[in-house]
Amino acid sequence: MEQPKQNRFLSRASSGVPGLKPYSPGKPLEELEREYGITDAIKLASNENPMGPSPKAMAAVSHCLTELHRYPDDGAYRLKALLAQKHAVSSDQIVLGNGSSNVLELLVRVFASVGDEVMFSQHAFAMYPILTQAVGATAVEVPSNAWGHDLPAMSAAITDKTKLVFIANPNNPTGTWLDRESLRQFLEAVPEQVIVVVDEAYFEFAMATADKTAYPDSSYWLSDFPNLVVTRTFSKAYGIAGLRVGYGICHSEMSDLLNRVRAPFNVNLPALAGAEAALADTAHIQRVVENNQAGLAQLHAGLQALGLQAIPSLANFVCVDVKQDGLVLYESLLRKGVIVRPRPSAGMKSFIRITVGTVAENEKLLAALT
Ligand SMILES: *Cc1c(COP(=O)(O)O)cnc(C)c1O
Repeated sequence: MEQPKQNRFLSRASSGVPGLKPYSPGKPLEELEREYGITDAIKLASNENPMGPSPKAMAAVSHCLTELHRYPDDGAYRLKALLAQKHAVSSDQIVLGNGSSNVLELLVRVFASVGDEVMFSQHAFAMYPILTQAVGATAVEVPSNAWGHDLPAMSAAITDKTKLVFIANPNNPTGTWLDRESLRQFLEAVPEQVIVVVDEAYFEFAMATADKTAYPDSSYWLSDFPNLVVTRTFSKAYGIAGLRVGYGICHSEMSDLLNRVRAPFNVNLPALAGAEAALADTAHIQRVVENNQAGLAQLHAGLQALGLQAIPSLANFVCVDVKQDGLVLYESLLRKGVIVRPRPSAGMKSFIRITVGTVAENEKLLAALT
C-alpha cells in the first residue's frame, strides 16, 4: 500500500511508528486477476497449503455457524487441552494467537520497549523487525551465514540490553534450518534473562523431510529452559491460514504475562472449531507433507534443469537465485498468471521465493520460468 508523504498524525505517533513500513503480503489472486484481466492464475507466494484445509476442519467450521452470536471461549479450553496433550505440557503453558504472528507480537509487547534490544538474523521472517520497531525497541540484525542463522555470532551479539531473540527454524524466506545440536548449544549459552523464541511455523514439513534425529522439536526442551518459547501455527501445514490460529508453548509464568496483554477473544469461534478439527485430522497432514516432499523434489529438479540452484529447504517453499532482478521476473510471472514472492531486501534482490504447490501448479510455474 502506498503511504501518504505527509501524514498529519506522524509527529504524535509513538517513537518507532513513523519509520515503519507495513508488512508486505503476497499478492492476492483476486487482485492479480482484477488487475491483469486474467483467470486461472495460481498463487505460490504466501506458503499457503495447496491441498486446502482438512475436510474435517471445514465441517467443524460450518457446524459452529449457529453459535456465531456467542463470544468464543476466551480460555479456549478444548483447543488448549488438545495442544497440551500433543506437546505433553499443561494447558496453562499454551498461549493462543490470531495467527502465531499475534503470539510473536505479544512477546515483543510484554518484554521489549524503548532502549531494549531484540535480536534476529538477517534474511529471517519479515515480521521480526516490524514488531520490534512498533514498540520502539532496537532491532539487532545479525548477518546470516550461508542464508541461515549464524548462532555463534548471535550468541556473541547478546548484550545486557537484549530482551528477546527470534529464531525461525526452518527459516522463512530461505528455508534453511538448524540442527538439534547447534540449537541446543545456543540455548545453553544464552543467559536465562534473555527470552528465546523458536518459531516453528514450518515444523510439520521439516519433521517429515529432515533426518528426524537432526531436526529438533524445541518443545522437548521447555522444561530445561524457562526462557524458551516455541511457536507453531495452523496457517501452513494445517491449511487454515484464513482462520488465523497460532500458539506459543512456554513456561506457565510466561504465558501468564502474555495473556495479560492479549486482546480478549483474539481467536474467534470458527477458528477454534476449525483448529480443533484440523489437529485431529492426522491423515490430512500426512497427505500435505507427502505432496510437499514430492513438490520440493519437482521444483528442485525443474529449477536445476533451468540452470538455477535453489537454497536447500526443509519448508514448503524454495528460495532461488534467478540471476536477474527478482522484481522484474516477479512481474513477468504475474503476466503469466503466476504469483511468487520477490525478495527486494538488500542482498537478495536476485532471489524469488516459490511456495510448493500441487504438481500441476509447480509445472505451470516451471513452464512460466522457461
Ligand atoms: C507464516 C509464518 C508465521 C506465522 O504465520 P501466522 O499465519 O501468523 O501463524 C510465523 N513465522 C514464520 C517464519 C512464518 O513464515
